[in-house]
Amino acid sequence: MGVDLELYNAKMNNQLMWFRRDLRATDNAALYHALSAAKAASSTVHCVFIFDESILKHLPRRDRRVTFIWDSLIELDAKLKSLGGCLHVLYGQPLSLIPQLAKQWSVSCVHTNHDDEPQALVRDTAVQLALLSQGSQLRTYKDHVIFERSEVMSQVGNRYSVFTPYKNAWLKSLTPFYTQPYPVEEYASALNSALTPLAWPSLEAMGFDEGHRMLTPAGESGAQTLLAEFTGRMGQYHATRDFPAVRGPSYLSVHLRFGTVSIRQLVLSALEQQGTEGGKIWLNELIWRDFYHQIMHHHPAAMSAAFKAEYQQIAWEQGAEADDRFAAWCEGRTGYPLVDAAQRQLNQTGYMHNRLRMVSACFLIKDLGIDWRRGEAYFATHLNDFDLAANNGGWQWAASSGCDAQPYFRIFNPITQSEKFDAQGKFIRRYVPELAALGDKDIHAPWLTAGLNLKAAGIELGQHYPLPVVDHAQARLATLARYAVVKTKS
Ligand code: FAD
Repeated sequence: MGVDLELYNAKMNNQLMWFRRDLRATDNAALYHALSAAKAASSTVHCVFIFDESILKHLPRRDRRVTFIWDSLIELDAKLKSLGGCLHVLYGQPLSLIPQLAKQWSVSCVHTNHDDEPQALVRDTAVQLALLSQGSQLRTYKDHVIFERSEVMSQVGNRYSVFTPYKNAWLKSLTPFYTQPYPVEEYASALNSALTPLAWPSLEAMGFDEGHRMLTPAGESGAQTLLAEFTGRMGQYHATRDFPAVRGPSYLSVHLRFGTVSIRQLVLSALEQQGTEGGKIWLNELIWRDFYHQIMHHHPAAMSAAFKAEYQQIAWEQGAEADDRFAAWCEGRTGYPLVDAAQRQLNQTGYMHNRLRMVSACFLIKDLGIDWRRGEAYFATHLNDFDLAANNGGWQWAASSGCDAQPYFRIFNPITQSEKFDAQGKFIRRYVPELAALGDKDIHAPWLTAGLNLKAAGIELGQHYPLPVVDHAQARLATLARYAVVKTKS
């Protein structure tokens, strides 16, 4: 280090910015607060990101999210350098590293943005206590959502568990204050420029393959490219968003997950298009995201069990046959082409279209009778945009056990969903190429196809493509029987 450490440490009022799920230098609440605190104290801000050993050890070696983080960190570091600072990147346990850095760099306060996942809260409380014991503090800020925790409550002070009234209250509470960006650049001169960056750990040293990347471009620049492209078609979102073969949604979820884009910027973009149906519906989706985050805050126990307690009674299929069916679902060989295309999209790219998440989750739960938590865990491992609050919300919606879920007797028919949302089988052909030669009508349920058509397409069911793992009509009846326990209790 090229500085007089004794003189430097004597100040004892430096600030530390701890980046987590907010990998951007633009419009970042904690970074802004760290910089303004440093300005006020005539001190400086150090920036750090820690690859958390206890999270990484559960991830597969070829994990696109880790490379996405890595690429985003490179961009973040470049941005901080252009502003006069730099990013230190470490690998290990935040509980020991953050207090250690705070001591080493004479930090009086560590600034970080809220992460309301139950395990993250436990970690942050432990870090806070460790910092307090050595005379420094942890300050945390809302950054990831527009309204968090108990900010949107009913008039009588109750929390919301149904989306529409929550949305109405959310819209009513929204003022320009909540979408105002944090002017990080104005205070950037407080970034510390004196320390040489600590050497970054390599992806390989942390146990990951370097070459496994998402199709989605990383970093703030990747998010801005996607947003600029989506802005031009947002007005059509309502008409296109349900068709997986069409470029309808924004594909910004992974950027929201890792904070390479600001939710405030996205809401402002949506507000600019409130004169269009598409803009209204897209804003709605962003509000769903806030909704599920406040559900996680108020009901952390629902992150691992049914939100509606009576749904805990349901007896799911277990044993070797259920395991085989679960494996067929995971690998995209259930014999239901749209479900298989969905699962293969997930496995090949890490993304799955929202309509398909609904179809595939419903199929696992209500056609295969498998516990939604197994599907939730599979998505958690494979989704680029995995987010505990939204994933749990989506799965409990499909299982009918969630706060604002589809009724248990509403069982998607995977064939009619396919005919409706992929009528020409374009999406199926992309991910299930062995069925590509089938006609538009036949591709949704090949086992119902006339033998001659199958022969003409060069397909022998059971050999080139599986026969269906279950009969939907029978599975539907079995599900209604399985859910009867809920019917009698609710
Ligand atoms: P767009 O259609 O462009 O929507 C814009 C943004 O709004 C999304 O990026 C997302 O942040 C938010 N959003 C949209 N729909 C929802 C929703 N239903 N709930 C909460 N937020 C929403 N979303 C995740 O971000 N992470 C998950 O782990 C996740 N798991 C899901 C699991 C299931 C079973 C289901 C049914 C849905 C899940 N979703 C999840 C919600 C939704 O499918 C994705 O947010 C969406 O497909 C992401 O694509 P996009 O960015 O192109 O979305």
